[in-house]
Amino acid sequence: MRTAFVSPAHGARHILDLKYVRNTFLGASASTCMPLALPTLAALTPPEHDITIIDEQTDAIDFDAHYDVVAITTLTPTATRAYQIADEFRSRGTWVVLGGFHVTMFPEEAQKHADTICTGEAEGTWPNFCRDWENKQPKSEYRAYQNADLATCVTPRWDLLRPRRYRFFSIQASRGCKYNCDFCSVRFVFGPTRYKPIAKVMQEIMTVKQCTLPRSDRFVLVDDNLFSNRQYAKEFLRALIPLNLRWECFAPLNIAHDAEILQLLQESGCDRLSIGIESVSQASLTSVNKGTVNKYDEYAESVACIHAHGIPIVGLFMLGFDGDDDTIFEKTFEFVRETGIAFPIFSIVTPGPGTKFYERMIQEKRMLQRSWDDFDGTHVCFQPKLMSPDTLQAGYEWIIKACYSYEPLFERTEKLWRNGVFTQSEQQTGLRLLASAILAKELITHYFDNRALLPFIQRTFSELWAKPKSDIVSLILNLGLAEYALYLAGRERHRETSLESAELLKRLSCCESITQ
Ligand code: SF4
Repeated sequence: MRTAFVSPAHGARHILDLKYVRNTFLGASASTCMPLALPTLAALTPPEHDITIIDEQTDAIDFDAHYDVVAITTLTPTATRAYQIADEFRSRGTWVVLGGFHVTMFPEEAQKHADTICTGEAEGTWPNFCRDWENKQPKSEYRAYQNADLATCVTPRWDLLRPRRYRFFSIQASRGCKYNCDFCSVRFVFGPTRYKPIAKVMQEIMTVKQCTLPRSDRFVLVDDNLFSNRQYAKEFLRALIPLNLRWECFAPLNIAHDAEILQLLQESGCDRLSIGIESVSQASLTSVNKGTVNKYDEYAESVACIHAHGIPIVGLFMLGFDGDDDTIFEKTFEFVRETGIAFPIFSIVTPGPGTKFYERMIQEKRMLQRSWDDFDGTHVCFQPKLMSPDTLQAGYEWIIKACYSYEPLFERTEKLWRNGVFTQSEQQTGLRLLASAILAKELITHYFDNRALLPFIQRTFSELWAKPKSDIVSLILNLGLAEYALYLAGRERHRETSLESAELLKRLSCCESITQ
């Protein structure tokens, strides 16, 4: 039996698509991070199946290829594309199975595009489908009634992916979270945290390392909150130290109070923490049940503690909570500037299915007519309480451009280099020459669009050669984010703005020039 597992791509650009980094270093068809769902499905499939994995981020789909079954995994922002792929394969007589989070939320909608739907975790559905397919009696629906036992779950078939396409590999040690923030679906999807035995996770790391090295020596721990159980987290970090890898993960900001965790993160090779800072308004945090995890008064000190351990922060911010009026953009910009958060990543609050925020927006009749494509954190999908949708969209795009225009970008980078955060063991001369060539190319390509580039490049050049320990990879990541800001600026020039958002942008441009 020929089976294809497909992960659909989301066509629109996003700040984290790192298109510049991919195009410059990895090739246009490369991705940065391996998907986990497809190799997990492959591992749940009996060995007699001939399996093809198609990650649409890196591979085009050949609709003329012959498959007996095509199984498509679906998230809300990729649902529309998943349905297109499903319809296309079904029109050619292929049996299509749809599964994943969005299908679990909207089984009736998905059923219109599939021969079979699977709801809940794949461990509880896919093996049953395979058994029934074998007996020529596949059902139209499979439902997982309980979550998987992570102690006995399969090891993903990373060997079926093309490792050269990926810069990082993905590892999962746990599912779920002990918190239940209103805007987040993790608790609904996975429930309270479940953990894999640490020996099993280490074994998986060794397995994936063999599949991907020498290309990649770093991984991303995709767990939503490894630190739900501090004891487990500490044992995990201790076990990682001897493996001598570079890695990154998500973490709540309150781990900054735990000196032992910070020390272990540093010793285990963690060189980036993605932290859900969410909002600089305590009222907004409280309005979405995040006020007990995040305390605005402690933010600056917590960020400084993490920086003191040499770990840069990817700060995840959301804009448009019910406590946010149109001053939230300046306040957030100022906070990023003062704390020197290396990679601030902004999203518009999204009422994702499965969240309490979604339920509330429905109850209060505040959902806007949007396609599932727009539920990606870059579009306004609901009526904000204290500003118009236009104002929220304009403020969101402004803050990205403001934080990633060259002056504030260099200011942050310089501060982090100075404080020993963006540092590595001494970079080889060849690498610094390469970075210099990239900077020169940037200057030639973009100087006439953006004159601020010249001082940025001059200052970066002198840092690069005066301080050989400055981390070049971080610099390149930042250039990738700056490229996204330029893309947004170009898009804005071609768009009409409402009077209200035009006034906001006028005010914000004053704030930007004052702070520079
Ligand atoms: S936002 Fe983070 S802390 Fe809150 S429920 Fe989701 S994973 Fe847990």
